[in-house]
Amino acid sequence: MTISHLARAIAESPTLKLNEEARFLRERGESVIHLGIGEPKNKAPITAILSAAAKISSGDIKYSPPDGTPSLKKAIIRYTEENYGRYVAPENIAVSSGAKFSLYNLFYSLIDPQDEVILLAPYWVSYPEIIKMVNGIPVIVTPEDGTFHPRFEDIEKAVTPYTKAIIVNSPNNPSGVLYREDFIAQIVDYCERKGIYLVMDDIYHKLIFDHKKCPSPYQFTAKDIENTKIIVVNGVSKLYGMTGFRIGWVVTNRRLVSVLHNIQAQTESCPSVVLQAAAEGALNGMQSVVESLRLTIENNRNIILQELKTVNGIRVMPPDGTFYCLPDFRAYSNNSVELANFLLRKAFVVTVPGKEFGMEGHLRLSFAGSVKDIMTGIERIRWALDPNAPSEIYIGDRRMLRDWL
Ligand code: PMP
Repeated sequence: MTISHLARAIAESPTLKLNEEARFLRERGESVIHLGIGEPKNKAPITAILSAAAKISSGDIKYSPPDGTPSLKKAIIRYTEENYGRYVAPENIAVSSGAKFSLYNLFYSLIDPQDEVILLAPYWVSYPEIIKMVNGIPVIVTPEDGTFHPRFEDIEKAVTPYTKAIIVNSPNNPSGVLYREDFIAQIVDYCERKGIYLVMDDIYHKLIFDHKKCPSPYQFTAKDIENTKIIVVNGVSKLYGMTGFRIGWVVTNRRLVSVLHNIQAQTESCPSVVLQAAAEGALNGMQSVVESLRLTIENNRNIILQELKTVNGIRVMPPDGTFYCLPDFRAYSNNSVELANFLLRKAFVVTVPGKEFGMEGHLRLSFAGSVKDIMTGIERIRWALDPNAPSEIYIGDRRMLRDWL
């Protein structure tokens, strides 16, 4: 069997390996705490469920236009107007099966072989792989000062004649950092002047704490939707905790949407009409569900920060949004894959190695789960690593003794 060069170039994910091992341990009866998962515990909004159920009950489940149903597009138009201050037309929207697929289709449409896409470290693990899958080259810009805030000058230095796009994800997976408004203004202005696409991955843009706000990138450009280089990607996964519904979308110029339409017509045909109905129900329903989810996650953020303070040597930048933080574990190990494996085997806690996000020596911890899981998970990490922690702990109903420090 021969496998294509392109397919072979896609990295195996250490996270999936860890997840598999976690599943194996759980099946063996171990009490595994998952601080790796990027999805909240809430139920889907009732308006989403009712809307999907009504669609199913109608029995009229057929293809939709490849880039989304007119009624879902109408809901997205309203969402864009309310949250971005921009009125867009249905022809400016392409709906796909999840924002990840939106990103894939987008880069498939934009990238010629050897074109470069700038990523800001720490970056979401799928960006480099998606870019490689369409024969592009990911170019990583890493903040030198140990913060998770990229410097505009470093981005400028990384731009070459091959730079096709820059991806900005704020608040950011995995660090939780919200980029400053003046940084967004600067990068919008730069991309508009240079003709570089600015892909705003806004999947977490409503999940922000401490009364901060994610600025609309459109406020920093005078160009209309047909001429701006800004492309917005969003979806229902994180907004409503509807990860399994797989609906995402792109807002951009008509020409690009018509290309996305053609690509989707020849690949997925269309996103499922039942799931599109669910997304429509969520977008048209009571938006208090978003605030209630946000408050739960903000409370979890406060708890994880408080718990992490009890572990000696770990430094953490308080996240402004998302449900992740990316503490620096270099006091214990510079090898995040080894450390994540160690924590799983010894303490039965799943974490995600920072290496996957371009930040070696860090671990991504998710606080999307229950308060109990967060508290127990951090207590176990402390027990496994910190020599000042008591050497005995209960894991499930077993008393465990730390004999490696
Ligand atoms: N962008 C980022 C930064 C994400 O973290 C995720 C999901 N983990 C996505 C996009 C994809 O979201 P979806 O579930 O809509 O495919």
